[in-house]
Amino acid sequence: MTDCLFCKIVAKEIPATVVHETARTLAFRDVNPQAPTHVLVIPKGHYENAAVLAEADDGLADDVLKAADAVAVQEGVAEAGYRVVFNTGPQAGQTVFHVHAHVLGGRDLHWPPG
Ligand code: 5GP
Ligand code: ZN
Repeated sequence: MTDCLFCKIVAKEIPATVVHETARTLAFRDVNPQAPTHVLVIPKGHYENAAVLAEADDGLADDVLKAADAVAVQEGVAEAGYRVVFNTGPQAGQTVFHVHAHVLGGRDLHWPPG
């Protein structure tokens, strides 16, 4: 998709601090971090949200979750605990409509989130 911010990051048209990459996923630091570790994990292909990604049905959603855990391990937050969030739709706060898992950790995270 030509007018998608995260597709442009995949295409390296917009810079990002990449922390993890596989053949089908990319993970980079959120530009406005909400925790000491705040990384976004995306499929390189364009899917609007988590539901559409799940429907892709070729193991790609698994790849994104595995990459999220790999990032947590790499960032040193896996043992203490971390949160994986897919904001889905405007009322949930989704602002970029290329599915992304927020991986948050490195501080106490409150529940439920606001
Ligand atoms: P959403 O609100 O859609 O769940 O999350 C979008 C996230 O993308 C936000 O946390 C926001 O800070 C992040 N973001 C927006 N623009 C950029 C950008 O250009 N680069 C990076 N690395 N993150 C971005
Ligand atoms: Zn996209």
